[in-house]
Amino acid sequence: MFVDNSNLMLADKTKVTLMANNAIHPPLIFKVAIACPLYQLFDYLAPENIERDKIELGARLMVPFGFGDHRKVGYLVGVADNSEWELEKLKRVDRIIDSHALLSATDLALLRWVSRYYHHPIGEVISTAFPKALRLGKAAVLVAEQNPPLTELKNTALASNTAQQTAIDTVCNGLGQFAVFLLEGVTGSGKTEVYLQIIHEVLKRGQQVLVLVPEISLTPQLEERFKHRFAVNIAVSHSKLTDNQRQNAWLQAQQGACSILLGTRSALFTPFTHLGLIILDEEHDSSFKQQDSLRFSARDVAIVRGKLLNIPVLLGSATPSFESLHNVAKQRYQWLHLPERAGYSITPALHLLDIRNKKMREGLSEALLTEMQTTLAKNEQVLLFLNRRGFAPTLICHGCGWVARCLHCEANLVIYADENLLRCHHCGTEHRLLNACPACKTGELTPLGLGTERVEKVLKKVFPDKVTLRLDTDSVRRKGSLENYLEQIHQGEIDIILGTQMLAKGHHFPNVTLVAILDVDSGLFSIDFHAAEKVAQMIVQVSGRAGRAEKAGKVIMQTRQPDHPLLTTLIQHSYQRFAISALAERNAAGLPPFSYQALVNAQARDEELPVTFLKAFIDLAAQTPKHNVLLLGPVAAPMAKRAGFHRYQLLLQSNQRSDLQTLLTTLIPDVAKLKIAAKVRWSLDVDPVDLY
Ligand code: ADP
Ligand code: ZN
Ligand code: ZN
Repeated sequence: MFVDNSNLMLADKTKVTLMANNAIHPPLIFKVAIACPLYQLFDYLAPENIERDKIELGARLMVPFGFGDHRKVGYLVGVADNSEWELEKLKRVDRIIDSHALLSATDLALLRWVSRYYHHPIGEVISTAFPKALRLGKAAVLVAEQNPPLTELKNTALASNTAQQTAIDTVCNGLGQFAVFLLEGVTGSGKTEVYLQIIHEVLKRGQQVLVLVPEISLTPQLEERFKHRFAVNIAVSHSKLTDNQRQNAWLQAQQGACSILLGTRSALFTPFTHLGLIILDEEHDSSFKQQDSLRFSARDVAIVRGKLLNIPVLLGSATPSFESLHNVAKQRYQWLHLPERAGYSITPALHLLDIRNKKMREGLSEALLTEMQTTLAKNEQVLLFLNRRGFAPTLICHGCGWVARCLHCEANLVIYADENLLRCHHCGTEHRLLNACPACKTGELTPLGLGTERVEKVLKKVFPDKVTLRLDTDSVRRKGSLENYLEQIHQGEIDIILGTQMLAKGHHFPNVTLVAILDVDSGLFSIDFHAAEKVAQMIVQVSGRAGRAEKAGKVIMQTRQPDHPLLTTLIQHSYQRFAISALAERNAAGLPPFSYQALVNAQARDEELPVTFLKAFIDLAAQTPKHNVLLLGPVAAPMAKRAGFHRYQLLLQSNQRSDLQTLLTTLIPDVAKLKIAAKVRWSLDVDPVDLY
């Protein structure tokens, strides 16, 4: 039974009153969404003696599901007075958990849109919107806390510069109606200050604001700035909080007990009583795209939410995504620009350092070491960026060429010298570090390539009296350690910061005046067409960490490709100029955002099954007349094996979003019913940002 969602009675009103015929008492059928991998709604008999005009769509229900006494939480998404199924076969809803639905009609409409657009089962989508305890059926308790009246606003706003004022005025004039604004401004140009002043206006209107950031580690500094400015309740929601804390934040927003909700991607679906503005900071960041289960883009869904609520959405970035720039060019978004750094700080200068034929010390050139010395001598901080964890990415035998590979993945094992380990970054498998080559028994095992651990060791040797801090997911695994380290950096206890992409995001390091990207070349040769965009964003973002205060900053990129157009365009011109030329290339190649893609991935322990599945997918598509969608594949995924699973993929591409969507809408429920579908792990990623 596949119930076409669009035929259901999903009125705009939350309350649905049916024409009750008192004489006959027609049965009342609940259309229920349940979190399970089935593309359908489930019909249940309504509880007995229910008052029809008290039924609220979106309410959680407890229903019998599956075998025996098994019970599950369901979500009421429609009511009807008939069912395709024989009434005697229908089970009855146990009870209604929420007498008042926690989701509004607009929330439900948004979740239904998400389900349709990403072709993900509606029950799973709705359940993602709820915090864990509520998903399991716990009663929602009212938050006692009162939001203080807005008259208590402390206003410590800075006097805006002209560009800031234009941005603030433009957005504020558009409050109360849907529009998307793209605020493009270099790091330190005062974007956050613009957010704060716009938020102030929204709060004065008695409305709430949702602020999304890509990284958990960015929430404390922003929360601090909000608290400093506004005497209102500010709720925070991200995955490092306890379930209880997240639920509180959720309920506060839902009950209007907080004015600002600050959170990561998952906070997007939080219900609000009177949301007036959505802000997405660092909108280009790929963390806004969920990469498993429900593969949604928080940016795109935020825009749909803004449209449904008729409120503005403000996207901010120093390096906007190509999609957003394209939407500006198409006049779908309004572009707001902050061209200069605010206050006293000076935009850092970018330099290419040609390291061809230069003597290197574990990835550090003599010229770079000299620069570091000069900076450190002035008691200023140095930040080194290397996006590779571990000691070295490869262990190779100098005698016979044997390479330490993961048995379960199509990948090399990474050397961890301190822990005396070889570790797979994809499945977590660990081995003791080998002393002898298992193939030839005599050859010398040599680490190949550079990781942060290796560079850290050489830094400690070269600068023995300076404090070096390595910041990567290995060194900050312990809870709270990143916050501690950031604090140490701010206190000036650290001289050299060495880190991975974790450093590239939004943190302010006022005393860092030298930034070096150790290996910019490795990002230039990826087979994924998104790579150039991401590398350019990374370079500009990392550069933005330099010279935030009054001190001038310098950025050095070590490269063996000093004439690479990506690098020269960034250095001689700007990110904007690079984006324009890269977008022109995408246009010529017919790639997104000039076309629309979806990626089907299939994996299984058996090597044949994924291909068989994808071929069945293609066969089904062939039965759909004239769909105008290219099906490219099946091909082995760039990582052909991972954690013991063979991986294949099929890329769907179309010049019209609607063509792609129409095909997927017909296809996916049928694909899900294929026998072979149950034998593989398969997923669909609409608008993929990572083709790996
Ligand atoms: P961004 O979010 O673009 O990185 P911020 O809003 O954090 O920029 O501003 C960077 C720095 O400049 C902050 O220290 C901020 O206090 C300061 N600043 C922002 N706007 C102004 C202004 N109009 N006048 C003076 N200083 C400002
Ligand atoms: Zn060997
Ligand atoms: Zn592995």
